[in-house]
Order: sequence, then structure tokens, then C-alpha cells
Amino acid sequence: MEYCKVFLKPKKEESLLRFHPWIFSGAIQSIEGNPEEGDVVEVYGADQQFLATGHYQIGNIAIRILSFSQRAIDESFWLERVQTAYTLRKILRLAEVENNNTYRLIHGEGDNLPGLVIDIYAHTAVVQAHSVGMHRSRFQIAEALKTILGESLRNIYYKSETTLPYKANLENESGYLYGGNAEDIATENGLSFYVDWLKGQKTGFFVDQRENRSLLERYAKDRSVLNMFCYTGGFSFYAMRGGAKLVHSVDSSARAIALTNKNVELNFPGDSRHEAYAEDAFKFLKEMGQNYDLIILDPPAFAKHKNVLRNALQGYRKLNAVAFEKIRPGGILFTFSCSQVVSKEQFRLAVFSAAAQSGRSVRILHQLTQPADHPINIYHPEGEYLKGLVLFVE
Ligand code: SAH
Repeated sequence: MEYCKVFLKPKKEESLLRFHPWIFSGAIQSIEGNPEEGDVVEVYGADQQFLATGHYQIGNIAIRILSFSQRAIDESFWLERVQTAYTLRKILRLAEVENNNTYRLIHGEGDNLPGLVIDIYAHTAVVQAHSVGMHRSRFQIAEALKTILGESLRNIYYKSETTLPYKANLENESGYLYGGNAEDIATENGLSFYVDWLKGQKTGFFVDQRENRSLLERYAKDRSVLNMFCYTGGFSFYAMRGGAKLVHSVDSSARAIALTNKNVELNFPGDSRHEAYAEDAFKFLKEMGQNYDLIILDPPAFAKHKNVLRNALQGYRKLNAVAFEKIRPGGILFTFSCSQVVSKEQFRLAVFSAAAQSGRSVRILHQLTQPADHPINIYHPEGEYLKGLVLFVE
């Protein structure tokens, strides 16, 4: 297969020599041939030396690197990459184990497949493309999944309606690539839940909070828990298994609340310790009393772009300030930010400001991050996005 060739400007090969997987459009000197968006291209330095192979895209990130060697991006490439990722999930004891069948199989750059996310829920793989190249490769990716996961795989759902670049003008092509059973009960650390991949956010469940939920379970005994921004109730059913006295789940989405109730019922039928409220977080926090001694704040990304960073940091400060003001003495706060553009230090500073405003004595017990099935490619530090603090509030 002949791929179009992209030549970089002098000195622009440096980040590639350090294995960074993106090429910005400004680094390109010339293109030989006329690649279409999503095509595989070969990248060369100004001195004609081969550097890498990647997906071409019209936009700020012009090429996402698939390989640093000169090779065909064909069936064997996809098989190899998916197999490598799957082997790692087995090493992590997330796949082919008794009490868990929910994990992220492909985490973009973290699995050397920029632009691709695949989450596994029991017998279903939910595939999300963030680039046109991955969109165009979806059938090959589906074939690789079938070969590697074998009989355990019954559905492949392609869900890219909100993640593909909008300028690419692609049709909304979400739908099943294989199978078609919309109901599958998944298991995480022995707890069961329904996943709404058809209408839910992201791929249907926030797989990245698995270890943080487990940690919460350890602290839940005899506590009154507020799970703010609960989505489908992940932290809530862990808190219940941990022996919480009561658990209140809050989310502004009525659909999320309905699924939270369904998931709690699935694990703890008829258990009256749980109640869920479809309400705005700030309204609920403002109106509630000092009722809770374990609070989880896991809001959506407040900043999706660098230019709204200041507002986002204010948002985190305000949100955490109410929690510090209202949490009972001896309370524990689990607070998170999933905004990639907010650094660990900036988030900690926002929480520090909130704590100072409340005047309470606050200690950091744990500093949390994303789990190992969301690996960070060491050459792509931008892949680190989830930050959390567990705080003891006297
Ligand atoms: N903690 C969850 C994931 C949270 S995702 C888990 O473990 O699965 C963020 C959630 O915040 C979404 O479900 C979204 O509906 C909710 N949300 C967004 N804005 C909100 C607001 N102003 N008040 C309450 N919930 C909100």
C-alpha cells in the first residue's frame, strides 16, 4: 500500500523523536499526494528521513501517530494492538476474572491508538472514535475485537455521535457493528449494573472511577453519604456495600437518577438506606443541612478548553467551599476533577482556597488518579486527566 507522504519543517521532528504521538498542522512543510481526511500517511523529516505512520486529519492536530515504524496499517496491525491492550488488562486482573468484566480496553494514546476508546461491559464492547481515521477504521477494529475476545463478545456498539470532529461533516453513524442486544448487566468488583450505551454519557458508564469507588467503600461504614453528580450510581452502590447508614444520590439528569435507582435495586433489593434526587448540585448543596459525613463531588469537566480554565477553577473552588462548609465534623470528602486542562496542582490549589475560605482544619488522606486501564503514555503526558483528593475535615 502506498501512503501519501507528509514532510515536516526543519526541527519539527523533535517531538516525534521523543515519541509524542501528535503532529500539529503548523509543523507541516509539504504534502506529496492529496490525502483525504482519515487517510493513513507517512511522515518524513525535512531531511527526507522516515519518522512515523499516522492518521491524517484536517485541524489543529493534523496527524495522530499509529506507529513509529514504516508499516502497513492493516488487519495485522489492528490485531496486534488490540491483543497487546487485552493482554495488559489480563495482567491488571480486570479481564477474564471472576468478579469483574468492566474495563477500558483501549485508552487512546495510552494504548498507542490515538483517537480510539473502547470500553468493555460484560459481553459488549462500546467503541468511540475521536478522529476520522479511527471512524474509517471501525470495521477493521470490530473484526480485531471479535478475533481477540472470541465468544465472550456478543455486541459491538459504535458510539461516536458526540466525539467525532464536527467539521468532518460525517453522518451520525452510531449503531451496532455486531450483535444488537441493548441490555447487558456488567460487573465491577462484584457489583452489578446496567449500562445505557445507547443514550448514556460517554460510553455509558464511568469506568475510570473503579479504584476510587473501592477506596470509598472502605470509608463508608456507618456514615451518611452524599453522592453528588452520581450519574448511574457507581459510588452509591459501593457505599452501600461498605455499610453506609444512608446514601443520597444527586444528579441533574432524571435519566441518570432512574438508572441509579435501578442499579441500587439490582444490588440491594428493597434496601431503604438509599434515596436519589434529580436536582441541580448547587441548589441541593445550598439547601441541604449538615446532614452528611461522607461527601463525593465528581462533577463533569468544568473546563474542556484552556480559555475557560479560570472559570473552571472558580467553579471547583465554589463547589468545594459549600462541601467544606456543610460537611459534619470528622467528615470525609472525596473530590474530583476530570478536566484534562486543569493540572493536579491547579486543582489542589482550588480545593485549598475552598478549605481556607471555610476555616476548617483539613488534611489530605489520599491523592487519586485514573486507574491502570486508563494508562498514560509516558511520551504523552496530556493523557493524565483524572485527579482526586480524599480529605479529612475536622
Ligand atoms: N460520579 C459518576 C460520574 C459523574 S459524571 C460515576 O461514578 O459514574 C457527571 C455527572 O454530573 C453527570 O451525570 C451529569 O448529569 C451531572 N451533572 C452535570 N451538571 C450537573 C449539575 N449542575 N447538578 C447536578 N448534576 C450535574
